[in-house]
Amino acid sequence: MSKSNNRSIIQSTLQKDYKDIEFISLMKDVITESIESNKFYGDMVKESGFNVDDLNNINDLELIPYIPTTYYKESANNFRKLLKIPEEKLQHWNCSSTTTGDPSLVGVNEKDMNFLYEMSRKSFLDFIPRDWDNTKVFLFSPDTTMLTRFCFRYTKVRPIKAYSSNFYAVSEEMLKLKVKYLFTFSISKTLKSIIKTHKIVGGFFIKQTEFIEDIEKNLKKPEEERFNIGIGGSNALIKSTMNLMKLEKVSFNLGDNVDVVLGGGGWDGHKGQMKIDPIDKVEFVSQISELFGTTGKRVIDLYGFTENPILFGSHWSDKHEDFVFHCPHYSRIIIREILSREPLKKEGDRGFLEVLTPFGSTASVRHAVTVDDYVELVSKHKCPECGFEGDTFKVLGRLEDKDGLGCSSIIQWV
Ligand SMILES: [Zn+2]
Repeated sequence: MSKSNNRSIIQSTLQKDYKDIEFISLMKDVITESIESNKFYGDMVKESGFNVDDLNNINDLELIPYIPTTYYKESANNFRKLLKIPEEKLQHWNCSSTTTGDPSLVGVNEKDMNFLYEMSRKSFLDFIPRDWDNTKVFLFSPDTTMLTRFCFRYTKVRPIKAYSSNFYAVSEEMLKLKVKYLFTFSISKTLKSIIKTHKIVGGFFIKQTEFIEDIEKNLKKPEEERFNIGIGGSNALIKSTMNLMKLEKVSFNLGDNVDVVLGGGGWDGHKGQMKIDPIDKVEFVSQISELFGTTGKRVIDLYGFTENPILFGSHWSDKHEDFVFHCPHYSRIIIREILSREPLKKEGDRGFLEVLTPFGSTASVRHAVTVDDYVELVSKHKCPECGFEGDTFKVLGRLEDKDGLGCSSIIQWV
């Protein structure tokens, strides 16, 4: 089947609103297929006493044996055992990086990557409904090649791709104007830093001044020639740029012509190998509004993790003083109590997150995955803020108690 044909099938798959009964039936199919094609999961199911015929209503989803993200860690040495196809048929391994330098490795094939592409495209368009053809995106991130090169430090497994780079690649394909990556490397700065600190890390820098100048130049153009501005990447680097803008008394009045798209996580001060000060979300959003002359409506957060196929989009909520994430129709979430692992169902309940989906897991078992992130159920079935039909949740932070820390943010490179 041709690539475009395949993608259009996925597009129509994503458009459907999967009622519970259809969702359950698709879950039955993917579980049966996973048991047949993967011994590791087959044994897990056998041991748990679970039977596919036990799945009859939506509450039964909680019975499905799930894979914790820690199973995918390279050190756990199960990532190959979770494959449903021969390793030589993989397109690559999606790689995350972590505070411990022990990445998760998730085997994907072309079908899985087509799903990731179409799903992210849909999330981007749903949460950032704007004229993408006339938008210039500034990413506070290394480019896709550099992101993958960072992964080479953590693992000898090949071929690999940085999980976060997949999403940047999607936006590059969607945009007509070139994406500008603001996190870069300079040989001269490296030399200076080696001389000064004997470390290579100082060779990286953020093109903050270039970013400010580009916005200024754009504003000087006649209105009809201006592009919209998209700002994305690491919240910590965006924050440091905003601090500079404050210091130099630079601010803009961009109104609705700007979108700030964050990559989930990092708010609590952990992001990959970087230890940073925690970032207060309310303060961050109000600083964006103030310095770019816009409102919190133009700030969104995306949340996903390497081990699971789904990307969640959110919008800012003044009432919750947080981003409210939507669970898309092609997925379901379960929030479990930390110790008992019992499902929690009341609004305001807090626990760790399980994500279920029958889609996007052709190469590896990952139709039900739990992650060590502490989340709160905002509402069941309907978003209280915008009326979206589906469950909503907030991401409070990472659970710190275990050795197998999750790696749940899209951006995990620094
Ligand atoms: Zn909503």
